[in-house]
Amino acid sequence: MTRTTAQWQAADAAHHLHPFTDFKSLSAKGTRVIVRGDGIYVWDSEGHRLLDAMSGLWCVNVGYGRRELIDAATKQLETLPFYNSFFQTTTPPAIELAELLAEITPPQFKHVFFGGSGSEGNDTVVRLVRRYWDLMGQPKRDVIISRHNAYHGSTMAGASLGGMSGMHQQGGLPIPGIEHIQQPFWFEQGRGHTRDEFGLTAARWLEAKIREVGPDRVAAFIGEPVQGAGGVIVPPDTYWPEVQRICDQYGILLVSDEVICGFGRTGQWFGCETFGFRPDLMTFAKGVTSGYIPLGGVMVGERLARVLIDEGGEFNHGYTYSGHPVACAVALANLRLLQREGVVERVREELAPHLAWHFEQLADHPLVGEVQTCGMMAALQLVKDKATSEVFDPTLEVGMVCRAHCFGNGLVMRAVGDRMIVAPPLVMSIAQLDEMGALIRQCLDLTLADLRSRGWF
Ligand SMILES: *Cc1c(COP(=O)(O)O)cnc(C)c1O
Repeated sequence: MTRTTAQWQAADAAHHLHPFTDFKSLSAKGTRVIVRGDGIYVWDSEGHRLLDAMSGLWCVNVGYGRRELIDAATKQLETLPFYNSFFQTTTPPAIELAELLAEITPPQFKHVFFGGSGSEGNDTVVRLVRRYWDLMGQPKRDVIISRHNAYHGSTMAGASLGGMSGMHQQGGLPIPGIEHIQQPFWFEQGRGHTRDEFGLTAARWLEAKIREVGPDRVAAFIGEPVQGAGGVIVPPDTYWPEVQRICDQYGILLVSDEVICGFGRTGQWFGCETFGFRPDLMTFAKGVTSGYIPLGGVMVGERLARVLIDEGGEFNHGYTYSGHPVACAVALANLRLLQREGVVERVREELAPHLAWHFEQLADHPLVGEVQTCGMMAALQLVKDKATSEVFDPTLEVGMVCRAHCFGNGLVMRAVGDRMIVAPPLVMSIAQLDEMGALIRQCLDLTLADLRSRGWF
């Protein structure tokens, strides 16, 4: 830990390939080395403090340095750092976590299949969905419908379910049997209609796709309640209930990818509760351990569980780290902390309304064309012309200009194209939310001045 920043950067550039990164340009520029975290802040190797408005990567929901989680990991490492759950064995933390998840998830969920990440969870979803329809005597029902600009992870199945065109361009994706429909992105596709009208229209794209593919071929629909990595795209209130109606009408399984929305992010325990739908499967990861250690999995609703358990025989799928005892122990400590401190209720009643208030204030900024918030997630759409909602030339990468000003001023905010997004920790004080709001405005002002000096605005 005694190296200089330049030494860290040189070693990183020499040996470390980063996710979703242009390797060459990053090594030319040098990475930012994050060395420490406490509460909602992290510090880099130069001693700069950053307000972590992205909760790490949508996961450090209880903030850094929580003693309960650290102690749970330490205790479990000392007792039993690993044992598998393959060969008719299990461990107490895996049992207790499964039990607690069954308690806090919606009532249709009594069983969980554990993995190590969200991507693995979605691979498991594909396996479970197809296995279910095989067992139901409808093996031709193997098509899973998802959405463009969805993010469901980076494994072959996760990236295929996702709708990121950049990912599909590399490595022969998507895998067969995955179809995509347009996302419910009002700012891009719905203007001129009310949000509610557009929500119904967007949901009915699912019905059109089902008819195109053939209702007897469609196995499931998967979606994030709010698209996270796609840019915090909050669907109109009418969207999910209509999706539910369509899935019910055609007998199609409904999968909620709760990797970001789960565990309080939207102001309820799960995003499907906020948006009023009843999934058959639910993928989770990230916030289940507040990111302290990797863990993911799938909640398996009774509709599938009964068939898989009663008639399924052996399910030929699993991961070495399915039910990892240390990860499960940390998840237990994290979820009990959320329960004990009433974190989800506080998000709903206190923090989310205050975050929304800040973003309503920011809506008057000359650069901001739209604001959207849901729970502790928010987006600002940067536009060239507020009156007409004209967007910037994407090659200018205005979002990256703004992001650089944020980092330079002690704020971690993410750019998805020209959409600036935050998903801050669920345990902030009101004063910290105010600090974040002020920082965002300051960074928008700096961005505006910068764009004017470049002649872009
Ligand atoms: C992050 C994410 C994933 C992938 O999770 P990993 O742990 O990175 O594999 C899947 N779905 C959603 C909605 C995500 O945000």
